[in-house]
Amino acid sequence: MKCRKCGKKAVANLRAYRLSLCSDCFVEFYRKLVRRSIEKYGIFKNNDRILAAISGGKDSAAMASVLKELGYDFEMLYIDLGIGNYSADSREKVEKLSEMLGVRLNIVSLSDYGIDITKLRGRICSACGTAKRYIMNRFARENNFTVVATGHTAEDLVSFYLKNISGGQKDYAEKLLPRIEPFDEKLVARAKPLFEVSEKENMLYAIIRKLPIKMEECPYAPRQEWKEIVYEIELKKPGFAKNFVRGLVSGQRNLNFRHCSICGEVSLGEICSFCRLRKRFSEMKL
Ligand code: SF4
Ligand code: ZN
Repeated sequence: MKCRKCGKKAVANLRAYRLSLCSDCFVEFYRKLVRRSIEKYGIFKNNDRILAAISGGKDSAAMASVLKELGYDFEMLYIDLGIGNYSADSREKVEKLSEMLGVRLNIVSLSDYGIDITKLRGRICSACGTAKRYIMNRFARENNFTVVATGHTAEDLVSFYLKNISGGQKDYAEKLLPRIEPFDEKLVARAKPLFEVSEKENMLYAIIRKLPIKMEECPYAPRQEWKEIVYEIELKKPGFAKNFVRGLVSGQRNLNFRHCSICGEVSLGEICSFCRLRKRFSEMKL
């Protein structure tokens, strides 16, 4: 198989684009793809101070690396979840990435908040997700960042959408926008610069660029049935995930948000879900 652009040996067969590319031409193609999404959807604004949330995995590492190649100025945030070897390995990879890219790394540990999610029985991921969202927003605001960028991919968005729609929760569609503006002064904008990119493309880019990434999954990761369904459709209809996310357009919903009576962050109820989580821990006999 030869590269369609330069005729060298191809390393990537992109079925979604019916395109085979060599490693140099693929990196060029990947960079253009991300730049086009950012420009077309206004994912970053000119005066943005960007905080890139990174986990140690391929998607967020690829995001940080391509943002650097595209000339963006940003810092990174790693949240140490305190999940044994998994978190220790992730942290090591993220520190290497920071060194390799020359981008400042900030680290916040869940244990600083008195939370040890490994002590929870059941619903660990839901508590973990709550904690990550809370810390990302609060850290960004308190350090004057205007937007938090995450490495969500086309497959992440499609599977999230299908899961929620099938559960009757169509209000979630708004979370799928490539940029979400804050509706409250305590919130920081969210951006997904890789929302039109597939996991396979991120992996190829990460391998070609030799990015330090962890391969093992979190020991608490549930089986991702919706993702598997998306992969299956993608096999039969290459480009499905990309086309699907491009078609997802939705308006803002109007929910009644207020400020948490304990910590003052934005909350749907009297006490925000993060403070409820902390409360559970302070009441737990460890
Ligand atoms: Fe947190 Fe692991 Fe669940 Fe991901 S899989 S949400 S890192 S506990
Ligand atoms: Zn080529």
